[in-house]
Amino acid sequence: MALKGKVALVTGSTSGIGLGIAEALADEGADIVMNGFGDPAQIETVRADLAARGVRVVYSPADISKPADCEAMVKLAHDSFGSLDILVNNAGVQYVSDIADFPAEQWDRVIAINLSGAFHAMHFAIPGMKAKGWGRIINISSAHGLVASPQKAAYVAAKHGIIGLTKVAALELANDGITTNSICPGWVLTPLVQKQLEDRAAKEGTSVEAMAQEFLKEKQPMLQFSTAKEIGGLAVFLCSDNAKTITGTSMSIDGGWVAE
Ligand code: NAD
Repeated sequence: MALKGKVALVTGSTSGIGLGIAEALADEGADIVMNGFGDPAQIETVRADLAARGVRVVYSPADISKPADCEAMVKLAHDSFGSLDILVNNAGVQYVSDIADFPAEQWDRVIAINLSGAFHAMHFAIPGMKAKGWGRIINISSAHGLVASPQKAAYVAAKHGIIGLTKVAALELANDGITTNSICPGWVLTPLVQKQLEDRAAKEGTSVEAMAQEFLKEKQPMLQFSTAKEIGGLAVFLCSDNAKTITGTSMSIDGGWVAE
């Protein structure tokens, strides 16, 4: 229970990697501010499941592409639990298209959620962390923050941007007891990837299972998906005392994707 007494806000924690991170932080005793979209009954089930780990959990419905929502989300943490110690900027979306066909509104949407949302949340969370002299900011980038793939212009641009944003924050906060790092997952089988698998399987007339193997063969030398639980384990490590001088880094957890 290394994080007992800490408060963690995980954006996009109603699903996938964000939920895995929220579970891992709750297992270490952190109180949790959940965020993300979804069916209200399912969100309440997830909230109750997290709370069953013996921590306090509140849900923020913030749309992180909106600065005022991010302000309200951070305020909810302070009003509910008296502090915000750990911010995990995880919420993200994907859109797949050649640049020549990429709709401008999809570009704006992906950048607003995957890049600007992290900036807005940090903007409102950092003053409270500075006042306490302790903080952990973890930005979920991607293998696509380090290398590119075709048809993912907005996503790749946003994820590279997240790594730059992380480095700036690390420098600004170097002597405030606050670390800022990016995590760069490879393939993790979440709803975000499931949709890409289904779309491409339909396009190429093959099964989703065969397409999953194809995705791994194309990118991930280890030929297995990483799991949300494993990403959560890395987030817990970055929150630990042993990680207190790790800042400004981008940590890959990608089965060898960017080693090629
Ligand atoms: P997911 O679709 O399972 O979850 C995304 C979460 O973000 C959901 O909770 C959703 O409700 C939330 N969300 C979307 N738009 C939002 C908004 N405007 N405001 C608040 N919440 C919003 O996806 P995932 O695969 O778990 O992805 C989580 C993060 O991990 C993303 O940043 C993604 O880019 C990154 N990532 C995923 C993979 C992968 O293989 N799955 C690999 C590398 C990086």
